[in-house]
Amino acid sequence: MLFEVLAKALEVAERTTSRTQLVAIVSDLFRKAEPDVVDKLVYLLQGRLWPDWLGLPELGVGVKLLIKAISKAYGVRESEVEALYGKLGDSGKVAEQLRTTKAPSTGGLAKFVQKPGETAKLTVAEVHEILSRVALATGEGSRDIKINLIASLLSKAGPLEARYIARLVEGRLRLGVGDATIMEALAVAYTGSSANRPVIEYAYNVRADLGNVAKVLATRGLEGLKGIAPTPGIPIRPMLAERLSDPGEILAKVGGRALVEYKYDGERAQIHKIGDKVVVFSRRLENITHQYPDVVEMAREGLKASEAIVEGEIVCIDPDTGALRPFQELMHRKRKHDIHEAIKEYPVSVFLFDALYVDGKNLINKPIRERREVLSKVVEESERFRLSEALLATEPTKLEEFFLKAIEDGAEGVMVKALHDQSVYQAGARGWLWIKYKRDYKSEMIDTVDLVVVGAFKGRGRRGGKVGALLFAAYDKATDTFQTVCKVGSGFSDADLEKMDELLKPYVIPHRHPRVISDMEPDIWVVPALVAEILGSELTLSPQHTCCRGAIRKGVGISIRFPRFIRWRPDKSPEDATTTEELIEMYRSQLRKIVEEVTEGQPSS
Ligand code: ATP
Repeated sequence: MLFEVLAKALEVAERTTSRTQLVAIVSDLFRKAEPDVVDKLVYLLQGRLWPDWLGLPELGVGVKLLIKAISKAYGVRESEVEALYGKLGDSGKVAEQLRTTKAPSTGGLAKFVQKPGETAKLTVAEVHEILSRVALATGEGSRDIKINLIASLLSKAGPLEARYIARLVEGRLRLGVGDATIMEALAVAYTGSSANRPVIEYAYNVRADLGNVAKVLATRGLEGLKGIAPTPGIPIRPMLAERLSDPGEILAKVGGRALVEYKYDGERAQIHKIGDKVVVFSRRLENITHQYPDVVEMAREGLKASEAIVEGEIVCIDPDTGALRPFQELMHRKRKHDIHEAIKEYPVSVFLFDALYVDGKNLINKPIRERREVLSKVVEESERFRLSEALLATEPTKLEEFFLKAIEDGAEGVMVKALHDQSVYQAGARGWLWIKYKRDYKSEMIDTVDLVVVGAFKGRGRRGGKVGALLFAAYDKATDTFQTVCKVGSGFSDADLEKMDELLKPYVIPHRHPRVISDMEPDIWVVPALVAEILGSELTLSPQHTCCRGAIRKGVGISIRFPRFIRWRPDKSPEDATTTEELIEMYRSQLRKIVEEVTEGQPSS
């Protein structure tokens, strides 16, 4: 296909205001294109060279460099090109105008593009190839290489072609031809009817490379598309969830039985393993492999298959306790330039929740139960690379309990997943097979609380064997007991942790202290004596902790989300600690604040 044909179509497309006409223009282009160039045509129509997820550099050279190339191509002084650019404000128009008025320079440029036996006219394939070389040129001398390649292309182009080459090079094609338009045009061009678009969409969801999907359609027709299955190395568009906030309604929606999983608050990762190679794709299908060398290593070790595609959530964790850390920490990690430092400072865990392909077996049309079973077989779990916390629920109360536990453990809520026979992986779709149930509000806990140590947990990882977290309790005046509120593993300095065993030693006892009310079983029990100041993100309801149990809701107590140690309070006795009554009041005031926040700004009736 000649590039001239594409340029003419782009010109018409640029002027149309009708979507129907846009689809017609694009489908006409597909009809005219040879099948082996259809993929390149798709990318160029979208102003790109290849799919995003390949992680290759794209076009988008600076105006300065483009002006140099135009000047070279048409033998015009740079200052003149610059002045024209100032006037027209569009590199495409500048190139077009100069190409119309000036004879292109031949000064040694032809060798960059002209191959022996080639016609003088540019083809789509040729333009794509040269532009790819421009995008990929790096290192010393690459600037000159880019200028020469662009100039050579421009010198070979006609005026209209020059307009679009310049815009493509600058990364400013901005035609606004989205995926949906292209899919519709493909359906019309190759099947005669837009009614077949869903088949194309299905293929695109499973293989997120529209150029490749178009090429399969052009060469093998609809039947070819139906055969498209997950391919390791090419991302699958992610399945998305609907949202509800009533446990009863949620269970009813999924048919009464559900796999309920923690909804981790991190970054979604689609992990592809191809032999020794591991590729990680984000929720938006960007290639994020380079950001997570630690995850790559875990997947290489932990996935017991030659080829696999699994999904999970990458979450920052406390390396000593394994506790989940807030989403913001992952953002801090991503901002760090030195990746090795980032890995050390912000270690992550991966919680896997789906398997889409394993060793030649396409799983996306299998029910979730089967996918989860395959996942549990293919993953050799470790501390940092394991399956998501999950529960089979048929009762709304059980769901709610699990939800509260999830929140308390630092998750964002739960994902409720239908378990019936049709519970397939709906690639690229948001449906009712998955329902997210998360907190609707967030209110910062401003006040710190003073809590009493009643137990201790031994650390894992580098703190193996030594105390890494403490169990804290509030004081209940009425019963003179200490009721557990939270487990704290964050906020301690290395020096604090070093001294911890020594500090606790005098208080260690072989069993729970009689004044301590706890459902948790720490590794070490201590006499309530030491008081510390604790800050968290908010107060939450918890089925695990005994503090104020039943006061707010039957069977659940009050806890603290993301609690962290601030400092010891040697000036306080255990009975001076924050009381259960105070915590109830704090929880109620937090609720009031949330209600105020929600109602604020709403028109009064
Ligand atoms: P959406 O992805 O639904 O458009 P969003 O990007 O705002 O919305 P959320 O509303 O937080 O994300 O919910 C979906 C995300 O939850 C998933 O994309 C995934 O990253 C994350 N997630 C965490 N835990 C799980 C889990 N167990 N199962 C599925 N997804 C999970």
